[in-house]
Parts: sequence; C-alpha cells; structure tokens
Amino acid sequence: MYTYRTAQGVWLNDMCNRARPARQWPDVTLDDRAEADLVASIRLQAASGFDSLTIFGLLTARDWMPRLETTVPAARRRRVRRILDAAHEAGVRIFYGLGVYSWGFDRIIEKDAAVRGTNPHAMCAARDASRTWMRRVVDYVLEGYDFDGFHLEASDQGRCACPDCAPRSNADYYSRVNAETAAYIRSCDPSKTLMVNMCGYLHTGRTVPEGDWQHLYEMGRHLDFLVDAGHRSFHVDPARRRAFIAGLPCAYGTSGGVWVYPPQRWNRGRWFLPYTQRTGQHLAQLYADGGRAVEYYMGPSSNPGVEVNIAFGGRKLSDPSRTDDEILGEVLQSLYEPRDSRAAAELTAIFEDAEEAFFTHGQGQQQGEIHLCPLIGHTAGPPIYLRNGMTPAGRRAYGRQLSRLLPRVRRLQGRVGGGPRLARITRCIAGTLADLERAASAG
Ligand SMILES: [Zn+2]
Repeated sequence: MYTYRTAQGVWLNDMCNRARPARQWPDVTLDDRAEADLVASIRLQAASGFDSLTIFGLLTARDWMPRLETTVPAARRRRVRRILDAAHEAGVRIFYGLGVYSWGFDRIIEKDAAVRGTNPHAMCAARDASRTWMRRVVDYVLEGYDFDGFHLEASDQGRCACPDCAPRSNADYYSRVNAETAAYIRSCDPSKTLMVNMCGYLHTGRTVPEGDWQHLYEMGRHLDFLVDAGHRSFHVDPARRRAFIAGLPCAYGTSGGVWVYPPQRWNRGRWFLPYTQRTGQHLAQLYADGGRAVEYYMGPSSNPGVEVNIAFGGRKLSDPSRTDDEILGEVLQSLYEPRDSRAAAELTAIFEDAEEAFFTHGQGQQQGEIHLCPLIGHTAGPPIYLRNGMTPAGRRAYGRQLSRLLPRVRRLQGRVGGGPRLARITRCIAGTLADLERAASAG
C-alpha cells in the first residue's frame, strides 16, 4: 500500500460538476455548488481509498491581503470550516495548497518594496522581509483553520533573479525556501503532514544533476513526502529513481503518470478519456522503484472517464499488487451495477477501448499532463489536445474508433444499473466527436 494516497484537487472548482463559463483560471468562487461538488468528490475519494486531498484556493488564489485577516470574508470562512468537517467525517485529511514565496503574494509584493525582486509574482528569497511575510501567512492559516497539512509549492510562478538570488541553481533556490517554510510549520505544529510539489523546478526535459540532489535531500528532512509530478517530464531522472529514493529522508512520489487537466470553464461533458491501464502500469512501476506517495489528479466526477479514473486510482494506491483489469472490473461493478458477467465484460472493454483509441493516436501525450484547451483565457478555446497532439489521420482514426463505441454503449441499456452514467458516456463521446469535427475543419 502506498503510504501517502493523496488526491490532488488541484483548485477547488476543478472538482465542480458544472463548468464556470468565461471565468479565468484559476476560478476560486466558493458557492453552494462548489461546496456540494467538493464534498461529493471527497466522499468518492474516501470510498476509493484516498486518505487525503490537496486543495488550492479555499482561502485565496493570488491575493493574500497586506492586512492578512481581511483576506477571507466571514461567510467563506464558515464554508471552509464546513468542508473541513465533512472531509474529516469522511476520513479524508485536507492539505492546504500553499504557495511558498509565490502564489498569493502579488498584492504584498506590490505594496512592500522590501520583498520585491525581479518577479512580480514571487518574493525575493534573499530578503528577511520575505521570510517574515511567509511566516505571517503560515501563522494566519494555522491559527484560523483545521487543515491537516500543507502542499508547499515554490516553483510554479518562477523565481527571483536579483544579484543575490541569481547564483543559486533552481534546485538549491526552491529547495531552500520550501525547507525553510516546512521547518517553520514543523516548529509551530509538528502534527501537520508536509509535502512539496516540484512543479516548475526545472525546464521540461531537464533533470536535477546528481550534484544537486543534496538540496532535495536536505529539504526532505523537513517533509513527509516529495512529489515529482511529471507534468511533461520528471525532474528526477526515472532511470536513477531508485538510487535517488534510497538517499531521500522522506517518501517520494509522482502524480500518477498521466492525467487530464481541464480549466474550470471547460464543459464537463466534452471529453471521454479513461486512462486506468496507463496509470495502473505507472503506479505499479513507481511502487517497485520505492515510491510511496502519489498526488493523483481529480476532476469533475460527473464525467464518467474522470469518475472511473479516480475510483481506480484510489484502489490501485491501496494495493499496487492487484491487476488493473481486476480493479477496473470492481470499479465498474460498483458504479454501473452490470446485471450479468457479459455486460460487465463489455463495459470493461468499452473503457479500455476508449483509452486505447486516444493514446494510440494522441502523439506526444503518452505521459504527464494533458491540457484539453488553453489553460488561460475567458472563452472555452479550441480543443488543443485534438489539434496539437494529433495528426489529421490520427483524428480520423480516433473519431472512427469512438463512433464504434456508441452502439455498444446503447446495447448495454437495460443491462446495467448505475443511474445516468451510460447516458453521460454517450454525451461525452458525442462531445468529443463534435470537437474532432471542429479540429478537422480548423485544419
Ligand atoms: Zn532576489
């Protein structure tokens, strides 16, 4: 069993089952629907085997106010506390997604010249004033909310490159601010689970040189686990993973190998991308290499592919020795209640065939994060995963294979329970076929 089976939100409305059109990413509106869908997702996570969830944006996205206590209105504070109570009742611990020196400090950087370096989104790491602000934010979160731990992230918005900071390598720079913040949290409350996600540590394709591993090891002394997500590539060379893990003082993990990350404004019924065979293989390999932590991407569980990926992932993390087919069968049994073994086998085949259909033709999207459309923007935007990631011939083949699934789904009617789920599969396949046509006509 993986020691740390963490669901990764990422942002609170990534789990929202209705899109929020025209809202810029990351949309952190916290209303009735956001709260209800988040709690529903937490219950699915618990039932699937996850023991914790990382969420960004419950308190703020980019805007800690210079008067910190004015950041979160009272009504929002009450909602956050209700969500925490619901999670704890379900047995899921919540890790607050905390930007380290960045993500949240824009207003403070604007107002306080003492923290300002070369990056408007990241405080200068060479200034005492920056450390003071970081500690104030930690104090505020620790004192006001019953979070069970922190997902620390220093590297997603870039770093300071002033003359004092510039000489440090990225591995040194980011590890230093993460370690310092983790050590401070530990000194305030040793009961909190602490992890760092290395998102953005290095440019795609680069790996941390072995001479720089010492920085990660030193940081690891202050953490429970370190996540090398693998958005495009891993920061620790997978060929040297075992050796790296052997020296790391905390657990090591990834984000499950492959995942889809739709912005909150993207229609929830517009893609059908189960990836249980790929993530299953990755999780078995990572465990064999000594990985004991995973931060596994969530999404809107009203999308039938997302729902199955989540239900599968939690089970695989709970027992990586189980075969992927067996787990998928169990997941589909519980969600779709097939009436007999032939219906169960056909349902499994449909999910596996949908996965193969995409990954056979989605060149360059075999590992890491799949963006369905541009992350930033107010309009839905084009389905880039069907444009940039596929050739015209690949699109036609993917479309043909998806089309063939539709009558097979139809023939399952009356042979499964599972409420509206079959209709949702049909809707998601139809949504993908419409996007394939759009992508084709756009050239
Ligand atoms: Zn600096």
